[in-house]
Amino acid sequence: MIQEIDPYKYDVEYKHLQPGKNDYVLPFCENGLIVRAGEELSFFTCADTGKETDYMTYLFSIDEMRFFYLAVHEETQFCEQNKMTISGYRLIKRQELRRLSPKHLAFAAVTAFQLDGWYRNNRFCGRCGKVLRQDEKERMLFCGECGNRVYPRINPAVIVAVTNGNRLLLTKYRGREYTNYALVAGFSEIGESFEDTVRREVMEEAGLSVKNIRYYGSQPWAFADNLLAGYFCEVDGSDEIRMDEEELSEACWLDREDIPVEYTDSSLTNEMICVFKNRQNEQS
Ligand SMILES: [Zn+2]
Repeated sequence: MIQEIDPYKYDVEYKHLQPGKNDYVLPFCENGLIVRAGEELSFFTCADTGKETDYMTYLFSIDEMRFFYLAVHEETQFCEQNKMTISGYRLIKRQELRRLSPKHLAFAAVTAFQLDGWYRNNRFCGRCGKVLRQDEKERMLFCGECGNRVYPRINPAVIVAVTNGNRLLLTKYRGREYTNYALVAGFSEIGESFEDTVRREVMEEAGLSVKNIRYYGSQPWAFADNLLAGYFCEVDGSDEIRMDEEELSEACWLDREDIPVEYTDSSLTNEMICVFKNRQNEQS
C-alpha cells in the first residue's frame, strides 16, 4: 500500500522549524503541486526558491528528509520569481501520484496534498469569520478573536469485502474516473461504530445482510482525505443483490478464479481483493 515505505520512516510530529537550504519545498497552487520536470518524482529544495522561506510551514519528515509547505498563487508567477524555466518544472495532480515513483516521495506528496487542502480550506474562522493563525506548538490553527481551534480533519470510512463461499462481492462506481472493480465502501456517520457502517453500507449499496465482521487493516487514503478501515464479512441469508443504482453501475458476485484484478501495491481495496483471490480452498 502507498503508505508502506519501509525502510523509510515517516515522522508526522509537528515541529516549529525554519527550513534549511537542503530541505524540500512543496509549492501548491490551485492547480496542483509544482515539482521538478522529469519521469521520476523529484522536489525542489529551499535553495531553489530564494526568499520565499519565510512563508513556509513544516509538514513532516521521512528519515532525514524534511518537507515544507508553500502556498502560491499561480505556478507561472512562482516559477518566474524563482527563475525556473518552463522546461524545469511540471505541475502534478493528486491522482497522478498513484502511478509515480519513488514510492516514499509519492506518499510524501499525496500526504502534503491533504495538508494543503486543510490549510487552504481553513483560512478563516468558521465561528466568527476572522483570519486563523498557525499555532507554534502543534499542527493547529486558532482564532485570536474567539478562541476557536481547528485541527486537521480526517474522515473515517470503511472498505468491505463481502464473501459468499468462493465468491466475492465486487462493485463499480457510477460516474467516476476510476472504473476498475472496487469493494463496498462508505463514510462512517456520526454515532456509528465501524461495524455499524459496514452493515449499513452493504445494505445500502447491495441490499445484503452480513455476519462475522472481521477487521483486516487500515490505510490513510490521502487521495480522498480518508482514513480507511478494511473489513471482511460474510453474507447472511439471501445473496440476491439489490444494487443502489444511484451510486453504483455494477454489483456482482465473482468466483475467486474469475476476479480480473491484479496486485498494484497502492490501495487497501486492491490488497483485500487480492488476498481473497489468492487464498485457495478456504473461506475468505
Ligand atoms: Zn473566531
